[in-house]
Amino acid sequence: MSHLVWFRADLRLHDNPALHTACQQAVIDGSGVVACFLRPQDQWENHHWGENRARFTERCLLDLGHELAQLNISLICWDVGDFNQQIPALLSLSQQLSCQHIWANEEPELNERLRDQALINQAQKTGIQCHFYNDQTLLPMGQILKKDGTPYRVYGAFRKQALKELERFPVQTLPIPQSMSCITEASQQDKITVLQADAGSLNVVGVSAFQPKAYLDDPIQQRWPATEAQAFRLLDSFCQERICQYDPQRDFPGNAEGTSLLSPLMATGKLSVKSCWLSAQQVQLSQPQGAQSAGRWLDELLWREFYRHLLVLYPELSCCQPFKPERAQIPWRNAPDDLAKWQQGTTGFPLVDAAMRQLKETGWMHNRLRMLTAVFLSKYLLIDWREGERWFMQHLVDGDLASNNGGWQWAASTGTDSVPYFRLLSPYRQAERFDAQGAFIARFVPELASLPAKQRIQPKGYVKGYPVPMLDLREGKDRMMAAFKSASFSQT
Ligand SMILES: Cc1cc2nc3c(=O)[nH]c(=O)nc-3n(C[C@H](O)[C@H](O)[C@H](O)COP(=O)(O)OP(=O)(O)OC[C@H]3O[C@@H](n4cnc5c(N)ncnc54)[C@H](O)[C@@H]3O)c2cc1C
Repeated sequence: MSHLVWFRADLRLHDNPALHTACQQAVIDGSGVVACFLRPQDQWENHHWGENRARFTERCLLDLGHELAQLNISLICWDVGDFNQQIPALLSLSQQLSCQHIWANEEPELNERLRDQALINQAQKTGIQCHFYNDQTLLPMGQILKKDGTPYRVYGAFRKQALKELERFPVQTLPIPQSMSCITEASQQDKITVLQADAGSLNVVGVSAFQPKAYLDDPIQQRWPATEAQAFRLLDSFCQERICQYDPQRDFPGNAEGTSLLSPLMATGKLSVKSCWLSAQQVQLSQPQGAQSAGRWLDELLWREFYRHLLVLYPELSCCQPFKPERAQIPWRNAPDDLAKWQQGTTGFPLVDAAMRQLKETGWMHNRLRMLTAVFLSKYLLIDWREGERWFMQHLVDGDLASNNGGWQWAASTGTDSVPYFRLLSPYRQAERFDAQGAFIARFVPELASLPAKQRIQPKGYVKGYPVPMLDLREGKDRMMAAFKSASFSQT
């Protein structure tokens, strides 16, 4: 008998409750632990994951395989297609390896939760017990509720309550489990070797099948460290050297060090949110001059927390529905040419174009620019926010349904805490405030680099090789106001 740990969005050894508890149990009952990852390529496509996100996940997985090997735990990777195929694959694997327990960490998305419930039901019939843990959030997902038992619908009130709960239940992390060296059964290893050699009806592949060499030439992957050791080094250096300047620096996209750049590692679960929270909290408590900035960063972690809780409490968010149902009536424009200009960074608005090109070149976009480009698409162009949400998922290394959906619905005024629909972010004003010298624009829009700063932000007249603005901002705003008013809802 042994224990099967199913890795999904938790590709790490540190602070991994499912892995930790499985290993503890294996020590108690004198058995072994086997790990698996069921790569659902088709599901990733259904969820609009692009190459950047998929490759980054696979690189994280490769590192996980090496890390687990240090604990004498084998990681088996199966290519399974979609979520429906994961369950039979998992049950078959459990049976072949004589595992009576499956251990995993919960995921907040609806399809994932339905799949896990189906697994629990089917596993019961075969005598296999499933154990699920929360590793995605600081507090149990979906359980921070108002006194009347209803969910918090705005961030401010949620944050207040979450901070109270975190005082009552301070965040703690789990260590890396002890090595399984003494107890891994030789017979188990033999079975795994046979499984890995057998392509069978289920495509069983070793973790090395992910061909990291093919990624070495990928300039986007080269930017993003994917090992657990690197993740901790990044977190430590951010908290020791930069977090105290986070508040004043976080809004300037030209400052590559202004934010932590940890989002891809958090999205794949290479780094747990609790590890991040504790590191920043230590700065907050020990360095009075940096406390406010560190607190600001903790607030960002709470935004992430909020969106995850909402995803669990409002399943419709996983089904492309607006958080505010009345806003389903907005008559979005079907304008493929305009959408293409936004996607390709050829709108003629320099900061918007620089941002969209940053996304394509690096697989990441600065938060202020995510807000700006999302408002530009959904308001000035009046194109459905779901088009933008999908494009982001297809290109982001850190693509994550909860945060992406939350951010897009905020910008489109269909979501929680969303900006009032009539309050727009002007691409020129944003550039004046956050890229005053036009340095960020020059970096990503080289056509404008030789112009003086003011002209980079808002070119006067025709610039060779650069498009003229694709719309008149005033007209865009009027069109949006009319469309939002025509869909009857209260003007908040
Ligand atoms: C339209 C839109 C789409 C977005 N899509 C995603 C996405 O797919 N994946 C993603 O991780 N974030 C998304 N965000 C949130 C935010 O832009 C990124 O988390 C942030 O830019 C990542 O950079 P960082 O790690 O340097 O952030 P930091 O500023 O260092 O923040 C630390 C961490 O806090 C979390 N965080 C920060 N800001 C937010 C936020 N507004 N909402 C939720 N969590 C936040 C992230 O996990 C981030 O890594 C989106 C925001 C908007 C407006």
